Amino acid sequence: MDNCIFCKIVKGEIPSRKLYEDEQVVAFYDVAPAAPVHVLVIPKEHILESAREITGAYGALIAHIYEVIAKLADELGLTGGYRVVTNAGPDAGQTVMHLHFHLLGGKLGPMA
Ligand code: AMP
Ligand code: ZN
Repeated sequence: MDNCIFCKIVKGEIPSRKLYEDEQVVAFYDVAPAAPVHVLVIPKEHILESAREITGAYGALIAHIYEVIAKLADELGLTGGYRVVTNAGPDAGQTVMHLHFHLLGGKLGPMA
């Protein structure tokens, strides 16, 4: 999608620190980390703007995203656990309207 920063990252039009990529998803470090480990996992296709639009039709993709997150958490040494956040809409502070999941690890504070 034109003017979507995450679509541009997928296409390599703007730089990112990628950790993982397959046919369906890309994972890269968040440019403004909110935790000691802060990675974004996104579907390559601009299929949904936020988690609010997820339906059963996307079940396999969402399960795959959570599998990738668990694999990355292992690789990043997050043995004590991690948090997955997805912001949906302005009240949640969503700024990029391309479905994405924040993988947060390290010393985490309480949830807002
Ligand atoms: P959200 O507020 O849930 O929409 O999250 C969007 C996230 O994208 C924020 O945590 C930003 O720091 C992050 N972000 C924005 N631009 C970039 C970029 N070029 N590379 C990596 N992360 C980015
Ligand atoms: Zn996009």
